[in-house]
Amino acid sequence: AAPVITVDGPSGAGKGTLSHMLAERLGWHFLDSGALYRVTGQACLIEGVSWGDEAAVAAVARHLEVSFSAADSGEILVAYKGCDISRDIRTEEGGRGASTVAAIPAVREALLQRQREFRRPPGLVADGRDMGTVVFPDAPLKLFLTASAGERARRRYDQLLAKGENVSLPRLLEDIEERDARDRSRPVAPLLPAEDAVVIDSTAIPVAEVFAMAMREVAA
Ligand code: C5P
Repeated sequence: AAPVITVDGPSGAGKGTLSHMLAERLGWHFLDSGALYRVTGQACLIEGVSWGDEAAVAAVARHLEVSFSAADSGEILVAYKGCDISRDIRTEEGGRGASTVAAIPAVREALLQRQREFRRPPGLVADGRDMGTVVFPDAPLKLFLTASAGERARRRYDQLLAKGENVSLPRLLEDIEERDARDRSRPVAPLLPAEDAVVIDSTAIPVAEVFAMAMREVAA
């Protein structure tokens, strides 16, 4: 099988940035598994399925007509049934929908095979919460990227501010802590590092340095 580098950790730790940099440098494919959960949540809104209706949400996940493509800008576009939903899935509501449907075991089961299909030569960088523990347990390199909740809230705050959105830092911190607690304590795929994962705490480390640390692990 093609090699896989898994990058797991809580939201806002910088997994997306690190994973993109690794995929680019290595010339490997990239899996944004969170996007699949976000698309599932959004597809439910489109199909009129309530996030609480577990059987119906699982059916949506099983038949998810999703496609990823790269825009000229390099930005990754996400389409559901051919309609661009890249913006919708990145809102706070999109995040809430994703983490709600991600707590349903039948949804995780439905998305398992789809995620594994991204594993193709020359290799895959897989970004998520359970890439190293559940989806690719045989990955030769597993990274677990963390940062303090305060630092992750601050990064998110800066991002939203740059987009011209008016947000409150205490409110963001509260959201992040709530989502962490939900992701960590759920019975299916709780957010924990794989036993053989290399844990990197990026709280006080700039992204270029995190990338250098990860590349040293790739070479090791
Ligand atoms: O990474 P991202 O913020 O896009 O993920 C959105 C939500 O999807 C997370 O809060 C988490 O609840 C869920 N998720 C998951 N397993 C993954 C990726 C994301 O449960 N592998």
